[in-house]
Amino acid sequence: MSAAAGAAAGAAASGGLVRALPAPRPDLSMREGYHSPQVPVEVRLNTNESPYPPPREWLDAVCELARDISFNRYPDRSARALREAIASWHGVRPDQVFPANGSNEVLQSLCLAYGGSGRKALMWEPTYALHSHIAHLTGTEIAQFPRAPDFAIDPGSALATVEKVRPSLVFLCSPNNPTGLAEDEATVRAIIRASNGLVVVDEAYGQFSSWSAVGLVADDVPLVVVRTYSKTWAMAGLRLGYMIAPAEVVDNMERVALPYHLDVLKQAAGRLALRFSSEMESRVAAIISDREHLVAELSGLPVEVWPSQANFILWRPLRRDGREVWEALVARSVLVRDTSRWPGLEGCLRTTVGTPAENERFLAALREVLA
Ligand code: PMP
Repeated sequence: MSAAAGAAAGAAASGGLVRALPAPRPDLSMREGYHSPQVPVEVRLNTNESPYPPPREWLDAVCELARDISFNRYPDRSARALREAIASWHGVRPDQVFPANGSNEVLQSLCLAYGGSGRKALMWEPTYALHSHIAHLTGTEIAQFPRAPDFAIDPGSALATVEKVRPSLVFLCSPNNPTGLAEDEATVRAIIRASNGLVVVDEAYGQFSSWSAVGLVADDVPLVVVRTYSKTWAMAGLRLGYMIAPAEVVDNMERVALPYHLDVLKQAAGRLALRFSSEMESRVAAIISDREHLVAELSGLPVEVWPSQANFILWRPLRRDGREVWEALVARSVLVRDTSRWPGLEGCLRTTVGTPAENERFLAALREVLA
């Protein structure tokens, strides 16, 4: 049967059921620029993934373990073994760990439990777009304030803002995506002291940075630190993230997480990954050294470059339109993140640190474009 004949037969059989579908909530449109276009190119430096696959031994261990899994049964709902492994890796207790499907799901669970109608989430822009997006989706009122011109959070005005807004959630991002700078430790401490709400430090890129807020987490401190397997652990495809938090906050996540949200294979794969931390640490060291090389090379070109403590670099062509440069790079099969139309980032582009060969392809293409 042809497609048209099939559709006609379907309409006839539906007996008057066919009509326009209802519209979704009118406030669902995604803030412009979140999704990075998935353009087929040879060099992909747009989504801050690891350029290296996870260790082969990890994959072998996962395959081996998969054979013994009872897939007919639901997974351990509390992901106990995974929590214990993450907790011992960080030197905290298992009841201070909440794992989820990527750190985005951790952020969503936090907003569901601590945000919602009549509550506010505070953040300083530009920052990770999903902080405001998820807050919005969960009905949380968003309070957005600008960062200083160097993209740091000005400590004086931040404290006044916290006291004025009285947020239920404060989002910090260290290192901040897409600008690359780690939040200042003294500012983070001051914000925790000033806030009555929960302070969330998103450390998706934490292992590339010189300091972490994980050491500040305690049962009587209103601080949550969010981490992911997507970057340092080279497992963006696994969709696993977690938070380190006071036990009471972790307990409250159980009220909003769907039952059995973490599948059995993911729980095992995430636990096994932690056995390969020395491989991961050497990759992080290599990426940091390649980042410094990229920054040095970019500094010799007619672009403004911001210092980075992450696995990406924000830069802005000085004499050319950012979007034009992005297009010219795509034409040379190099994809970077076009942030040039994002508020506060006019003209800027963001490049993920890739393999040395990818970085050289990017630099060669950029030199040609800017010549
Ligand atoms: N936080 C930040 C700051 C990010 O940049 C990202 C990924 N782009 C995430 C969280 C989400 O990571 P995932 O859901 O893959 O863990």
